[in-house]
Amino acid sequence: RFEYAPAPESRSIVDIKASYGLFIDGEFVDGHGASFKTLNPATEETLAEIAEADERDVDLAVKAARRAFRGWSRMPGAERSKYIYRIARILQERARELAVLESIDNGKPIKESRDVDVPLVAAHFFYYAGWADKLSYAGLGPDPQPLGVAGQVIPWNFPLLMLAWKVAPALACGNTVVLKPAETTPLTALLFAEICQQADLPPGVVNIVTGAGRTGQAVVGHPDVDKVAFTGSTEVGKAIARAVAGSHKKVTLELGGKAANIVFDDAPIDQAVEGIVSGIFFNQGHVCCAGSRLLVQESVADELMASLKRRMGTLRVGDPLDKNTDIGAINSAEQLGKIRELTAIGDEEGGERWAPACDLPSSGYWFPPTIFTGVTQAHRIAREEIFGPVLSVLTFRTPAEAVEKANNTPFGLSAGVWTDKGSRILHMADKLRAGVVWANTFNKFDPTSPFGGYKESGYGREGGRQGLAAYLKGAEL
Ligand code: NAD
Repeated sequence: RFEYAPAPESRSIVDIKASYGLFIDGEFVDGHGASFKTLNPATEETLAEIAEADERDVDLAVKAARRAFRGWSRMPGAERSKYIYRIARILQERARELAVLESIDNGKPIKESRDVDVPLVAAHFFYYAGWADKLSYAGLGPDPQPLGVAGQVIPWNFPLLMLAWKVAPALACGNTVVLKPAETTPLTALLFAEICQQADLPPGVVNIVTGAGRTGQAVVGHPDVDKVAFTGSTEVGKAIARAVAGSHKKVTLELGGKAANIVFDDAPIDQAVEGIVSGIFFNQGHVCCAGSRLLVQESVADELMASLKRRMGTLRVGDPLDKNTDIGAINSAEQLGKIRELTAIGDEEGGERWAPACDLPSSGYWFPPTIFTGVTQAHRIAREEIFGPVLSVLTFRTPAEAVEKANNTPFGLSAGVWTDKGSRILHMADKLRAGVVWANTFNKFDPTSPFGGYKESGYGREGGRQGLAAYLKGAEL
């Protein structure tokens, strides 16, 4: 056992205040409601006290966004794009600070927040800044108009990246924003608010209201919100769809997943093992498109599993601020409880659990990288999203059986195919009911590519030219 000791110089580059207000109309203000704490999940230490926005605060934020909409939506696109480029450049300048803060508040390894999250956040702002004066060339109608005030609610797994996916296209299209970050990871959204001030963004264009589900409900339910963009669980997504049904609001939902990562017998095994590991253990498996179901062709299953176990034995679990860490902390006690509960059901239903010997820290929330073999489609761990570092392994004999098993899920967010045959990749991509199909890679993201689900994984697309449609009147894909 080791004690958590964050690298002192990286911890000291972030200035975490004792308490934070809400960001409304360009200023940090006190909320009317109570407050809550955000913790470091690697230590359970309280990081800061955060204001909890109630209905009155949300109303003030929506009113500020409505006032700002007038000027922001009429501003020439080239002017709007200058502000968004400025935000992108400040995000790059403050990248180290953002990465460290994200790792402290979320628990993710610093090498991921530093090399994946924060660079992608800046890339999204650069990409959508480029669209702001070219909207009429987006193929979404000759005179695209913004919707108005966007109410955006995001989860805790990629706090800043989910913000970027929503805020950057909304602003580029001329909308204003009221965003609610997740209650366990509000800090980088609040630092983003400071960046908006630094970029001289007109007051009210971006408003950040912190709080839990009730605050989210107030945002999506506010009558003067024109657009609802939600990323989170399928359960809450359905509740939101019901709550806004029949209103004028345009809605996009990015929900859960249970992706199949399908390995054929002609795949390069070493490469596939790397893809399986990054597919399920990246970000502790707190990834909506995680490759949480491995479908391996029977003839190579033994060889692949032996190689996968060897590789899992080299993964380092621990201090998120240590540059060598591969798997950080589980984001909250609640999420750890969910992972434990579902994996215990996996044991009861006859799955065979395996995890490498792991020296887990003595405080904080941790779960070792784990695989379950002997899993069938009837098992709950093969059907339900665990949202943790847990892989369910199933086998198949023929491509048709792989397609049948991969599609046998209420979700349809992503899938991976590992094979040497180009024709098989095309065949599988055609048959798989998933918004994204990766070939001989996994979890690759780019601001130019649209992302989104089929079935209970939600509707609408974020990213790319298609992502603009969510924020423009009359634009459909
Ligand atoms: P969650 O649904 O519990 O919470 C998401 C957000 O919604 C939080 O900010 C929460 O405070 C808020 N919220 C909760 N109840 C609400 C309500 N009734 N009305 C309005 N807002 C409400 O999800 P989570 O546990 O934070 O995130 C994990 C889930 O998110 C997983 O299912 C994952 O697959 C999904 N996810 C999907 C994508 C995607 O792009 N499809 C990306 C990331 C995460």
